[in-house]
Amino acid sequence: MNETLLVLYFPVWIACVIGTWLFFRGRDPAFKKRWYRHAYAFNITVIGGMIVLMTIPHWEAFVIFTAAVLFFMWIALFRTRICPSCGKVCQPEYLITPQKFCSKCGAALD
Ligand SMILES: [Zn+2]
Repeated sequence: MNETLLVLYFPVWIACVIGTWLFFRGRDPAFKKRWYRHAYAFNITVIGGMIVLMTIPHWEAFVIFTAAVLFFMWIALFRTRICPSCGKVCQPEYLITPQKFCSKCGAALD
C-alpha cells in the first residue's frame, strides 16, 4: 500500500465533499441537473482513483476495487436523478433502479 496516498486520501476526500457542497449550495435545480454528472464524475475519479492506486502491488484488490469504482460511477452518473422541481438528488432504488418520482416533493423525474 502506498502510504503517501493513504495520508492524502482523507484531506482530498474532505476537500471534494466540501467543494461539492459549496458548488451546489443555493443553486437552482436546473444548475444542479446540468452540473451534477460533471461534479460527481470528477469526485469519483479522484477518490476512486486514489483507492485503486493504493492497491497497485496487489492485482486481486486492484481488479475488485476498479470494478467497484466503475460500478459506483455507473450508479452516480446513469441511475441517479435530479428532481427538476426541488433539486433533490434521488438515489436509485435497490441500488440500480432509477426513481420515477421525487421522494421529497413527488415530482416526476426524467
Ligand atoms: Zn423534488
